[in-house]
Amino acid sequence: MRVAVVGAGIAGLTAAWELTRRGHDVVVLDGADRVGGKLLTGEVGGVQLDLGAESVLARRPEAVGLIEAVGLGDRVQNPATTSAGVWTRGEVRPLPPTVLGVPADLDALAASGIVDDVQVHAVPVPTHDVSVGEFVTARAGREVLQRLVEPLLGGVYAGHADALSLRAAAPQLLALGADPVTAAVSARAASAGAPVPPVFAGIVGGVGTLPQVLAERSGAEVRTGSTVRIVERSGNGWRLLAGPVGAVEEVLADAVVVATPAPATARLLAEVAPDAAFALAGIDYASVALVTVVLEEHVELTGSGFLVPPVDGRFVKAATFSSNKWAWIADTGRTVLRASVGRAGESTALQTGDAALVERVLADLAEALGPLPSPADAHVQRWGGALPQYEVGHLDRVATVRSSVAGVHGLEVCGAAYDGVGIAAVVAGAQAAVSRLLSDA
Ligand SMILES: Cc1cc2nc3c(=O)[nH]c(=O)nc-3n(C[C@H](O)[C@H](O)[C@H](O)COP(=O)(O)OP(=O)(O)OC[C@H]3O[C@@H](n4cnc5c(N)ncnc54)[C@H](O)[C@@H]3O)c2cc1C
Repeated sequence: MRVAVVGAGIAGLTAAWELTRRGHDVVVLDGADRVGGKLLTGEVGGVQLDLGAESVLARRPEAVGLIEAVGLGDRVQNPATTSAGVWTRGEVRPLPPTVLGVPADLDALAASGIVDDVQVHAVPVPTHDVSVGEFVTARAGREVLQRLVEPLLGGVYAGHADALSLRAAAPQLLALGADPVTAAVSARAASAGAPVPPVFAGIVGGVGTLPQVLAERSGAEVRTGSTVRIVERSGNGWRLLAGPVGAVEEVLADAVVVATPAPATARLLAEVAPDAAFALAGIDYASVALVTVVLEEHVELTGSGFLVPPVDGRFVKAATFSSNKWAWIADTGRTVLRASVGRAGESTALQTGDAALVERVLADLAEALGPLPSPADAHVQRWGGALPQYEVGHLDRVATVRSSVAGVHGLEVCGAAYDGVGIAAVVAGAQAAVSRLLSDA
């Protein structure tokens, strides 16, 4: 079977990999001039590092499994430290154990000084979807929401707890049940002393090196600079029109996997799966920027970085001490920090030049960490339409997309818009999409 995959982000490349493994003929089309989407490496101050996603969840098998399958298993590296801080109330304080911000150790929380008021209520979990904010506030109080859950959730979605869906964006909180604080504390006490396997993994040289290797070793034909504008039925198969205006190319295929972000997928499916297109058009995206700073001199920093509660009104949303976190970056001898800026609905914060953005980030870092030596280099990577917002009702939207797409023979969708924005979830989603496509063939 000949399959056209639209989008060469990790979703599209995983789909291509799975299809070529099974002997299918695959062409991957991406509008950008490179493969990888949100995975990208670049050089800052002489150090080659990730300018987009930098780690994968190692607690579930899909991403690390894929990295190993493509032959990069010997370059997998776990973070050297994962002890994060929270910059709030005038200092960077150690983040106590939590389940996505819901306290799991009340003594450690009290010692951290992050929150004064933890409430512990049992409130039945509604059968309908609610926001993470509504769920947490009723059971643990607003302060826990604002100073712990919000920054942790923001680190994944760059979104707002009062808008994000409990069921789609925070299923681990839903799993804690009616009294999440008691459940989190008990679960931690029950697992005390048990070995904790690494939660995250990276790749020496950057997670952003994966897409190129995946593209090359899949054996798929990969065309960049090839924006797909039309996806339509052609007899029993499909006809795609792609490429720059004035140089449109036609691609014929037996099946199509659309692995683009929701707005592009909505446009491409408007004719062939209008219900899916309509549901996808309702998914908002947050834009963010990552500011990477390489310092002149070595600076001693503690832990992997810090998160910032939005309620504190800072410019930076989070900072990672990359040279503490990754041995392969520490080995360069440089001190590398990376700060993220921008949240859903707050794109005006990013509407400033690179130099001003770096200046504001450096000012925040200096206030949080004390005076820093001047940077040898700094880099701003802007990610417009970076992260889909799984708002209340997201699972219903995804169900609508799935049932609409299931009604169209030889069509599948995958990517960060559906079942999780993290790389491991996106890889799993692409693998599932290929299984559905082949079982329907
Ligand atoms: C700054 C940042 C940091 C992140 N950090 C992490 C992390 O550390 N760990 C983690 O697990 N996750 C992280 N994520 C999330 C994760 O990286 C993404 O959710 C995931 O990579 C998305 O993959 P995707 O293939 O679904 O989409 P994308 O990466 O967006 O790929 C979609 C591709 O489709 C192409 N495209 C769009 N329209 C068309 C069209 N019409 N025709 C052809 N091609 C088209 C685009 O050019 C792009 O290449 C991060 C995300 C961001 C933005």
